[in-house]
Amino acid sequence: MRRIQFLDTTLRDGEQTPGVNFNTKEKVQIALQLEKWGIDVIEAGFPIASPGDFEAVQQIAQKVEKMTVTGLARCQKKDIDRAYEALKDAVDPQIHVFLATSDVHMQYKLKMNREEVLASIKEHVSYARTLFEKVQFSPEDASRTEKAFLLEAVQTAIDAGATIINVPDTVGYSNPTEYGAIFKSLIANIQSEQEITFSSHCHDDLGMATANALAAIENGANRVEGAINGIGERAGNTALEEVALALAIRKDFYQCEANIVLNETKRTSELVSRLSGIPVPKNKAIVGDNAYAHESGIHQDGVLKNPETYEIITPQLVGVQQNSLPLGKLSGRHAFTAKLEELGYQLNDADSKEAFKRFKALADKKKQITDKDLVALLADQYREETEQYKLVDVQVQYSSNGYQGAIVSIINEENKTKVASRIGSGSIQAIYNTIDELFQQKPALKEYEIQALTGGEDAQAEVRVTLYDETSQTEVRGIGVDFDVLQASAKAYVQASNHLVQKD
Ligand SMILES: [Zn+2]
Repeated sequence: MRRIQFLDTTLRDGEQTPGVNFNTKEKVQIALQLEKWGIDVIEAGFPIASPGDFEAVQQIAQKVEKMTVTGLARCQKKDIDRAYEALKDAVDPQIHVFLATSDVHMQYKLKMNREEVLASIKEHVSYARTLFEKVQFSPEDASRTEKAFLLEAVQTAIDAGATIINVPDTVGYSNPTEYGAIFKSLIANIQSEQEITFSSHCHDDLGMATANALAAIENGANRVEGAINGIGERAGNTALEEVALALAIRKDFYQCEANIVLNETKRTSELVSRLSGIPVPKNKAIVGDNAYAHESGIHQDGVLKNPETYEIITPQLVGVQQNSLPLGKLSGRHAFTAKLEELGYQLNDADSKEAFKRFKALADKKKQITDKDLVALLADQYREETEQYKLVDVQVQYSSNGYQGAIVSIINEENKTKVASRIGSGSIQAIYNTIDELFQQKPALKEYEIQALTGGEDAQAEVRVTLYDETSQTEVRGIGVDFDVLQASAKAYVQASNHLVQKD
């Protein structure tokens, strides 16, 4: 049976989702969970993009034990050098070099003609090959590239030493018939003495990212790229969990194997959703909350008689735990650490101590601490570490018949406290006006969402906000979880405001 490699780009292409910014700790955490999930190659970032990106790629390269680690580079020597610096400690490093090959990209974006593009591919793939054993080349916007020129570009990259060819449907324009045919034709026509791995990379603009990836596999691709929960720019990337399950459930049809540990799927999805701040839609295939809920009477009746009547995937297969044992006030450090490991967290001593302290404080107020509470608690802890300003206190004076008043204090990294007070027509507006004063900002509140984190009377409130700053044209997100909705609202807003400060 053919083995399909999975390349995850949640931390690179996925992070290009508006408002998503993982910090280094969060990236390492996701990388370790992806390794557990069975990912073959992780695209850890774009090292030259920023010092933060570089650091994250380097740390992932040092921490990952089995996965190949790759970083993105444009066809420029400085990009390739920077990627080499970041990746050189990896057990199995790989570089991903790209250059656009479609007419519209070459003419308007690159301002290069075909000859110049081919020369650049030759020069930079050869250079990358002097530093890396494994070089992946992507002709960006491949699906809109003229077929003969695409073959020429790919052949040039192979001749220069690339052994992995990725064929991106950069703008989500292709369809399964057309995208599959590109692979068939490239595989039939390239000339190479070495074995070449062909890889698919699709975007979901027309809702065909998963179907396109599977069409590529049917036509000879041995590698698939995508992101967890399908996050990414615009409509996002191929959702890798969908491809993994399609290959597993329809093995009879695809006749392929993969390394994915299916019962780690739900956990991986939850971790990415929590740390990215992008919720998973309830009806999302494989990982949505309703994916295994049978609602209509006829379906319920059928499932009770024999689950196979309406259930093609069992929740157990993807690791949806229906009765995961919650922790409580009396749970000790050992049970706590074991639980975190089960959830995909591997904490060092200091972090584990701090997390346990937070857990105890929460357990004093809440009877049952569920998996969701724990994941939220950890996310809070990681984020606070990188925040320049932390929320100290919120006071609200409420009047049912007039303005509300708020006093908010924050503390900066040098332990300097700032306090301000403002009014608003509602309590949350009063708090947000005050935080704007403290941060000296005036962003637009684009989204405010509130929901209960879990079921039950003592559930914590989860608030998500999206802010947009006109001057820097930046969109940022924040999540706050707390017992009190006002406190949760303040936390979310402070977190988003920190992202705005850091963007400057
Ligand atoms: Zn992409």
